[in-house]
Amino acid sequence: MPTFVYMTRCDGCGHCVDICPSDIMHIDETYRRAYNIEPNMCWECYSCVKACPQNAIDARGYADFAPLGHSVRVLREEAKATISWKIRFRDGREKNFVSPIRTTEWGSIPSPAELEIPDAEALQSQELAHEPDALNVPGGLPALTPDQLVQGVA
Ligand code: SF4
Ligand code: SF4
Repeated sequence: MPTFVYMTRCDGCGHCVDICPSDIMHIDETYRRAYNIEPNMCWECYSCVKACPQNAIDARGYADFAPLGHSVRVLREEAKATISWKIRFRDGREKNFVSPIRTTEWGSIPSPAELEIPDAEALQSQELAHEPDALNVPGGLPALTPDQLVQGVA
């Protein structure tokens, strides 16, 4: 589901522009409001939705699961550190999802160049760079051992 911006809510702060990995959130030069310049190229990562302080960005549901009469609403509540999705189907059914959002202060995440260079052992690990520390998972992430993988395919 690609995103779109409610221009009446947007204040042109540019957070969505900065965070979009596909570089498709742009500020309209005339209206000074954000808009998604190419929904077909949207990764649907929803980073922009989570970053928008004005709750100005929403998701446009695909016709296969949310045809005419549907709605997909997103609510970002910074104080609760949650993002809630309310999906209403045209037959009236409603589904609600609540997820945690990053509460790290904007601009406080160091760039990869500032982090330690991984050693040879880290490069062989199943964990991604700077996991589990970056995820705050003490003791490491659960991972399958080679034995368990063999059992799984037998
Ligand atoms: Fe960009 Fe992701 Fe937002 Fe799509 S959902 S506009 S890719 S930040
Ligand atoms: Fe507008 Fe929200 Fe983007 Fe800021 S983050 S420019 S308020 S849509």
